Amino acid sequence: MQNIAQNLAEIRAELETSAARYGRSAAAITLLAVSKSQGPAAIRAVAACGQREFGESYLQEAIAKMGQLSDLPLTWHFIGPVQANKTRLIARHFHWVHSVDRDKIARRLAEARAPAAAPLNVCLEVNISGESTKAGVAPAAAVELARYIAALPGLRLRGLMAMPEPATTLDVQRAAFRRLRELFAELRQAGLDLDTLSMGTTSDLEAAIAEGATIVRVGTGIFGPRT
Ligand SMILES: *Cc1c(COP(=O)(O)O)cnc(C)c1O
Repeated sequence: MQNIAQNLAEIRAELETSAARYGRSAAAITLLAVSKSQGPAAIRAVAACGQREFGESYLQEAIAKMGQLSDLPLTWHFIGPVQANKTRLIARHFHWVHSVDRDKIARRLAEARAPAAAPLNVCLEVNISGESTKAGVAPAAAVELARYIAALPGLRLRGLMAMPEPATTLDVQRAAFRRLRELFAELRQAGLDLDTLSMGTTSDLEAAIAEGATIVRVGTGIFGPRT
């Protein structure tokens, strides 16, 4: 677990360096540790370094780990595909869902969120590279879906999320994130009260920060390769 602490310190340093390079405050960027397929001991090691926000993609695995880590004050983000038959458990166990891309899923999450609980924080996933096989709402349909979600009780629409087509150069990576940032500005212009741009992973952290990410989602950079 020694190297997990070191990896985390390196990712935090990279986040700070990139923030400084692009004139941003590192404090305005939340590091989400993506712990999918990692065991509870590894998550505990990262939490021991002060990390609080964790991201998971697989529901059953995530719920099992939450049970084993319930003594820790962690905030859980669901970032995987949301199937309609999983909405009840997701709405009960998570604080955030980054991957909402359909009205039906949003409505089911809203219906399942306990009235006494704080609203479930939601990001709209956008198919920003226009890949036919990718999850996410088409950019042209985002305003309408955002308005629908914003009006649902039990949910708080926070912003946009994207997982662009992989690219190796900073410029190409930035171009995709820039489109998400511009869509975010458009939605705000349309009166939606959004504060979150969830974008950037281990391999495109700098590009995402350059384009205004407020949440970056880093898995392998912290935990090492998934097995
Ligand atoms: C797995 C995953 C990540 C983390 O990717 P890494 O390359 O491990 O940093 C981020 N976002 C989503 C949606 C993921 O599924």
